[in-house]
Amino acid sequence: MSTYRKWYCTCTGKPLELEYQVAGEDEPEEPVCRRCGASRSSDPRRTIIYREVEDWED
Ligand SMILES: [Zn+2]
Repeated sequence: MSTYRKWYCTCTGKPLELEYQVAGEDEPEEPVCRRCGASRSSDPRRTIIYREVEDWED
């Protein structure tokens, strides 16, 4: 079993799960908020949160 983090943005007042976007070949893939565009590395309003999720399939 392992845990991983699910990332959310709270810009709407409710947690909205970040979505992975296909980035350029050299850029690391990073999930972004589809509403406001915030991400883990670009979070000017500090709306990004995460939750630990347990993965039982490991
Ligand atoms: Zn957002």
